[in-house]
Amino acid sequence: MSLHSDTFKHLWFPFTCAQDIVDFPPKVIVRGDGVYLYDSEGKRYLDAIGSWWVSILGHCQPRISDAIRTQLDALEHVMMAGFVTEKALELSQRLASILPEELTRIFYSDDGSTAVEVAMKIALQYSNRRKAGRTTFVSLTGGYHGDTLGAMSVGDIPAYHNLFHDTFKSQLYADGPHCYRCPAGKKKESCSAECMESLERILAEKGESVAACIFEPMVQGAAGMRVYPAKVLTRLGAACKKYGVLTIADEVAMGFGRTGRMFACEHADLVPDIMCLAKGLTGGFLPLAATVVREGIYEQFCGDFSSGRDLAHGHTFTGNPLAAAAACETLTILQELDIPASLGKKTEFFQSQLNSLWGLPAAGDVRSIGMVGAIELVADRRTKKPFAAEKRIPFRIAQKALDKGVIIRPLGNVLYFVPAYIITEDQIAEMIEVTKESIGEVV
Ligand SMILES: *Cc1c(COP(=O)(O)O)cnc(C)c1O
Repeated sequence: MSLHSDTFKHLWFPFTCAQDIVDFPPKVIVRGDGVYLYDSEGKRYLDAIGSWWVSILGHCQPRISDAIRTQLDALEHVMMAGFVTEKALELSQRLASILPEELTRIFYSDDGSTAVEVAMKIALQYSNRRKAGRTTFVSLTGGYHGDTLGAMSVGDIPAYHNLFHDTFKSQLYADGPHCYRCPAGKKKESCSAECMESLERILAEKGESVAACIFEPMVQGAAGMRVYPAKVLTRLGAACKKYGVLTIADEVAMGFGRTGRMFACEHADLVPDIMCLAKGLTGGFLPLAATVVREGIYEQFCGDFSSGRDLAHGHTFTGNPLAAAAACETLTILQELDIPASLGKKTEFFQSQLNSLWGLPAAGDVRSIGMVGAIELVADRRTKKPFAAEKRIPFRIAQKALDKGVIIRPLGNVLYFVPAYIITEDQIAEMIEVTKESIGEVV
């Protein structure tokens, strides 16, 4: 397919400035294989960000393709009310077997944003049922939970959310962990999670009006892969418990082994009341999400017809068997490969490669956890002064890397890596080397 100037005239791209479509025409991708994607001109790209973090086992994983094909020959879909498919049923059992044992009930939806909407509605209705009068949410600055209205209301990335926050009910926002620029001036090795004092203050003042606290465990992804220590989660969990506030762990990005544990909350031995799962769940094949809750929460939704206790929520494609088949096979492969335990040596290599980025003068911070890595670029390392946003330094670096056949993405002044777990050491080295060269050419 050749690209004429009006090739894209009917398309509206997400998170994309219109002029960029003219200046940097999107590649038309025709094929995937492992960590590689191939465009319509035959050029090969190493996908270092797993296509927005979903491709955890590589593109076109043949066993997941087969699982979908087998299901496709039997049934494409049936509504999940009065009916359920074998695969949706099997998946609920499989998920329950790898989740913390307290998390027993699984509600399906379509993507990360809807998983969060469902979690918020469950928290509100649960609170209503108990006549607790808790009608608001508290979240952390730098948090990202999706782009639908409810999920946006608990998000705090100024570039995405400022325009919309005034339009609907505003929630409570406590300070998020921001270790590279810690406002308390602490070091993450020796701090006591002082950033959580703000949450504690808010809960002490307004805790009785709060239904739930929502957070991204261990890494605030969209904020720029802000990795933070487990003690922050421990302190957050304790504060919520003290004030009877439910915890909603948004594991949409970090679940399924990404941080070196099956779920990121495990780093702090925190079992949330509600957990949101999506992105990696189907190995990147089809949209599917799950909101998972403790049995005690589900019990508040039980009763006969006259009790009116049911959760009035659902999506047309809830429990789709093609997606569930992909997810079941993904879980089987994760188990066979012993992920995350078996990633230890690869993670060490990945992190040592990342650490070589410290040699670049523009490297303000290099951070990682498990198979997540990021470099924050600064104009001045000593003062941590950021590059002016209008210079679009990380964007230009990502374009250079693309020319050299590696897909990385900027988040503000941060470049990040979230490759498929099957990436080899040679491919990791290539990904970091190309990044290094590209940074050198732009900065
Ligand atoms: C991506 C993401 C979401 C939103 O998921 P979508 O599938 O894009 O709707 C929610 N929370 C977190 C932490 C995410 O990374």
